This record gives sequence, C-alpha cells and structure tokens, in this order.
Amino acid sequence: MQALQAALEKLEEVKDLHTLEELRLLVLGKKGLLAHAFAGLKELEQEEKTRYAQELNRFKESFSTLHAQKKQALQALELQVRLEAEKIDVSLANTHSGGSLGHPLNYTKERIITHFTQRGFKLHLGALVEDDFHNFSALNIPPHHPARAMQDTFYFKDHKLLRTHTSPSQIHAMQTQTPPIKMIAVGHTFRRDYDTTHTPMFSQVEGLVVDTGVHFGHLKQVLEEFLNAFFGSVKVRWRSSFFPFTEPSAEVDMSCVFCQQKGCKVCKNTGWLEVLGAGLVHPEVFKNVGLEGMQGYAFGLGIERLAMLSCEINDLRSFFETDLRMLEAF
Ligand SMILES: [Zn+2]
Repeated sequence: MQALQAALEKLEEVKDLHTLEELRLLVLGKKGLLAHAFAGLKELEQEEKTRYAQELNRFKESFSTLHAQKKQALQALELQVRLEAEKIDVSLANTHSGGSLGHPLNYTKERIITHFTQRGFKLHLGALVEDDFHNFSALNIPPHHPARAMQDTFYFKDHKLLRTHTSPSQIHAMQTQTPPIKMIAVGHTFRRDYDTTHTPMFSQVEGLVVDTGVHFGHLKQVLEEFLNAFFGSVKVRWRSSFFPFTEPSAEVDMSCVFCQQKGCKVCKNTGWLEVLGAGLVHPEVFKNVGLEGMQGYAFGLGIERLAMLSCEINDLRSFFETDLRMLEAF
C-alpha cells in the first residue's frame, strides 16, 4: 500500500505524457503494483481480505480519475506548445515576386475556349468515363482497330473506359440535339502511354459543326482563322490523312513559329509544324446517331501541343511537375 501511495503522489507531479504513461503501466499494468496487490489478497483471512480489497478498489478509482485529468491537461499543454512553435506570421512581406498568367495549360485552354465560344460554338465538357459505343463504335472505330487495344485504353471491369479522346462528346451532342449543332468539347483524355512526348493524361479540344450544306471550305476558313488568331500570322498547309470518323480527313500544318520556316530543331528543318486533325464527318457516324444524309465537319487538337508551341516549352512532362520557376518564367 505504501508503494501505491507513493505512485499516487508521483502522479500529482508528473510534467510530461511519457512519464505519465510509465506511471500508468507501473500501477495499472498487467504486472503492475495493483495486480500484484490483488494477487496477494488470497493469503489473507476473509475479513481482512474484504477490507483490503475495498481499499484497493478505492485506490484504483482515484488513481484512474487523476490519471485521466492529468492526461487531458498535458495533451492540451502539448498542443499549445506546438501551435506556438508552428505559428506563421501572416504580416510578413511576400517574398514571391513573380507575376504569372497561371498554368500554361489553363491559359492555353482558356484562349482556345474564348476564341471559339465568341464565334458561336457551344462549350461541352463531357464525362471522363465513357462506354465502348460512344468512345469507339459510334465513331466508326471497328472492333479490330488498334486504338481499342488494351495497351492503349484504360478499361474498367464493367466494359466502361476512360475516354481516349474528346470525340464521344460529339456523339452525345448529336444524339441529344437537333441540327444545326455548333460545339466544342474540351477536357482531359487518357491513354496508357508515358515518355517525353506522351503522358497518360492529356487534354484535347474537339470541334463539331453539323448543318445542311456544310462543306470543306467552311472547315478551312474556321481553322485558318483560329491558327492566325492564336499564333499571329502563319501559313497553313493541308495534307490528306486518315481518321475513322471523318471522310475526307486532313492533317493541318502551320509555318514554324520558331524559325519562320528557315529550319530548326522544333520543326525538324521542315519549316512546318503539325497542329491539328480535321475532316468532314463520316457518313457512318451520322448513320450511327440517326442523322443519315446530314453534313458536318469536325476537328481536334491537343492543348499540350498548342501550349508547348505558343509558350515555347519543350518538355511535355514539365506541365505536370509543380515547379514554380517554370510558372514564373511563363
Ligand atoms: Zn522551325
């Protein structure tokens, strides 16, 4: 009982949580003083045993109560000390000097959206998770097409997938609206790819115009106007190409903005930079959404690609690293 009394006195004076815990184990632990005292009861006579057991129980109660109070007080004190130490002086002068237009990707995206919405294109964001029909079949991408391969596409268990391009938004728009349709879809797209020129997540802008009498001349005018507005005065070159969802299809190049076509590393000495893909909407796509016989055009471009060219950034991966110096330089 003397040892127990001493422990109770010690408890009064404890100044830190570590010592408090040591003391708790010494008294209340499995092999602690109390357990030992209770074990010793069996050697006593009945009357004495009862009296002593009551005394031990009373002790246990007062020790536990005091321990709980001490613990609470010490924890509050510790928090107070930490808050003092980690205090931030918000009145200090700002050492961050650089002004910035924001992240190059957001800045580029906003510029593109502004350009097209000012010309009557309605902005669609679309869902990131799509089904096979909207991402592939409806866009005339048949089952054996390489774009569907497991190594390119992130699939979910239930045949859903992360959209590999913004084109599913075209399908949704044509399924839910009656022409004329004039829209752009903007947002993240996903493919299983990672190197200096590919990242698993990238962003696209997609344009779609559906109306009777729409022809290639309209498409050319819209895109040439866009490139000149975006990059300043550039020459534009159209090369025939192939995409499953457009017919005819074209790739669009513009004169190199870095060397004015004298030849440089960026344009690989050709004087031209690839910037866009475009074409007239394939009749099969119209058939898939119940708009047979309709005319329209579509185009697509990568926001990262345009940001790299317009902000003179040469490593795609730097967009996804949080380097303030890059943002400040920009
Ligand atoms: Zn060049």
